[in-house]
Amino acid sequence: MTYDVAVVGAGPAGATAAKFLTEKGVKTLLIDKRPYPRDKPCGGVLSVRTLKRFPYISDDLIDSYSYGGSISSSSLMYQLQLQKETPIVAFILRKNFDQGLVNCAVKSGATFRDGTAVVNIQRRKDTVKISLNNGESLESKLVIGADGIWSTVSKKFGLGQHYPHIGRCLFQDYSLTSNLLDQYFNEKRFFQFYLKFMGISGIGWVFPKKDSINIGVGEIQPLASRITKRPHLKDVYTNYLMVLKEKKMIPPTIKIGKIKGGVLPLHPLKKTFADQVVLCGDAAGQMNPLTGDGIHYAMSSGMIAAEVCTEALEADDTSAVFLSKYQRLWKDDFGGEITLFLRILKRLLKVDGDEKYIRLVSKDKQIIDMLLTIFYNQVRVQNYKWKLAKRFVYIYMKDLLRM
Ligand SMILES: Cc1cc2nc3c(=O)[nH]c(=O)nc-3n(C[C@H](O)[C@H](O)[C@H](O)COP(=O)(O)OP(=O)(O)OC[C@H]3O[C@@H](n4cnc5c(N)ncnc54)[C@H](O)[C@@H]3O)c2cc1C
Repeated sequence: MTYDVAVVGAGPAGATAAKFLTEKGVKTLLIDKRPYPRDKPCGGVLSVRTLKRFPYISDDLIDSYSYGGSISSSSLMYQLQLQKETPIVAFILRKNFDQGLVNCAVKSGATFRDGTAVVNIQRRKDTVKISLNNGESLESKLVIGADGIWSTVSKKFGLGQHYPHIGRCLFQDYSLTSNLLDQYFNEKRFFQFYLKFMGISGIGWVFPKKDSINIGVGEIQPLASRITKRPHLKDVYTNYLMVLKEKKMIPPTIKIGKIKGGVLPLHPLKKTFADQVVLCGDAAGQMNPLTGDGIHYAMSSGMIAAEVCTEALEADDTSAVFLSKYQRLWKDDFGGEITLFLRILKRLLKVDGDEKYIRLVSKDKQIIDMLLTIFYNQVRVQNYKWKLAKRFVYIYMKDLLRM
């Protein structure tokens, strides 16, 4: 079989790329190693700007909405409140959401094969040969690697790997009655973030949904490995739940069951394209390392990849030089935002960084509004860079003088 584009991986990045490609009349194969519908380790937060950018995400793919929440410093003494009159994030259940996106791609005309892994890819003169785990092989003019953090496509095209620059997470979903959820998290379903809980180099989260709650902790692997006597992440998780119950932040009835694990990339790969290939989503490392928000970038990069691949096919030029446009476009779209949040994360994870910065920022409505605007709306971070820096220096100096 011969295709114009083979999209490897049918998560948010791959399904979005396949939908936009087929809408342009490109003959597209979408392939995933897991049988669908499949679940994926995730907190299930989707920013409302994603819904604005992809209006075809229908209501039945959304579980519930949250109108904001809080970020607490490690001592739990300082809290940053992020709240709005309108929802700022939607909650989703990945099994349902990802299947919904695949359905959209199939409806547009993509061929979908699940339960089949890509095991090898070889460049030919004008095409690539893709070998599958069932012994079959097929050809395509272009490949989109949307196959997640351990991307086979990235390895085969020599674009690099994420390990050890990864975040490791433990989490669990608990079913709760909506009454209990209303009582603890308000009908507006306020989320909670905890920075550096028990001194870990990372965060804890609580995401209250319609009739379940997702609670997790995550640490940054390269920083964590430098601390010799750090607690095991499983012990951190157990203790985290205990403390949250003691502080009455979550219902006391929650009992630890089977804890799940997951990993995410920390920053983008240097190069996300090569001759005949582009990488999208986790495979490319497009992730907000502070919040773990990756779905927005995965879908946005899938859309951009589809646009550039369509142009490459029209121009009959699938060279790296032509496809470098993809990296320029995604960097222009959300690259600045990733860099900004990576910088904020590094500051917060410094010794006492969380105490200092959360205390300072929590007092300044302007800076909170700017961060909310950058993160939850589709605005270019460049428009806010100087305003943010100036505001931060101002509150920092004010604080120094007070002391
Ligand atoms: C614990 C945890 C919590 C998170 N919480 C959030 C959150 O609340 N909000 C948010 O926005 N993001 C969150 N993320 C990040 C988010 O899950 C990812 O950024 C997002 O799934 C990336 O989408 P993707 O399409 O790039 O990759 P994926 O969703 O990982 O999809 C990749 C697909 O490729 C398939 N595949 C892999 N190898 C092959 C192969 N060789 N052949 C064929 N198919 C293959 C896989 O089966 C998979 O279906 C979280 C991540 C973790 C680990």
